[in-house]
Amino acid sequence: MAAVAPPATFPRLAPLGLVSPGVCPAGDEVWASLLSSNALFATAGECPPADGVSVAHRASLVVGQSPSAVVVTCADSRLSPELLFARGLGELFVIRSAGNTSADDSTVASVEFAVKNLGSPLVVVLGHSSCGAVAAAVATAADPKAMAEQPPTLAAFVKSVLVAPVVAVKQKRGGVTGDDFMAACEVENVATSVRTLLTSSGWLAKARVAGTVKVVGAMYDLATGLVSEC
Ligand SMILES: [Zn+2]
Repeated sequence: MAAVAPPATFPRLAPLGLVSPGVCPAGDEVWASLLSSNALFATAGECPPADGVSVAHRASLVVGQSPSAVVVTCADSRLSPELLFARGLGELFVIRSAGNTSADDSTVASVEFAVKNLGSPLVVVLGHSSCGAVAAAVATAADPKAMAEQPPTLAAFVKSVLVAPVVAVKQKRGGVTGDDFMAACEVENVATSVRTLLTSSGWLAKARVAGTVKVVGAMYDLATGLVSEC
């Protein structure tokens, strides 16, 4: 299947520039397969194959799992990695939180577990359009009291984790406004999460350089249903 062009609303990320990625053919193959399935999901509504959720398949997974990819993504109900990549039980190792961050140890440890012990050759940090967590960060960056009515843990999380990418976009792309600014913040939030993951886990960074795992940042467009690498 032909490569899917990234949505115009998602400015491409600057190179991460942390480590030189190694060549990971297994990760490349899985990523190409996921994007191909996503294109069918977006255009034809393809769902996970029936045998991927069958009673027999479920029974076969009792003894273990070998997911082909790890997906770190947002908790937003409008996206589900298994649906948008048309994958069944046991195929994706999914870690979700508001704003698809890698800021806490449980996320980093979960990624390490899947790559080391389950053999996943691909880690995808997946952000999305119209992300409420990023919108909260944009509001907080403009007005520190914007989250004053919210529960304190939520407000503190937005302030301590999610505002930094917004500030970075303001510094790098000062003239961008409106929807373009929001899209740039969503992409920068993914980039920040990838960087955090690789700086928090020296083990994962080494595995990436060694070519045993591929790490990519990507965006999901709610309107088109398409995932694009960023
Ligand atoms: Zn979100």
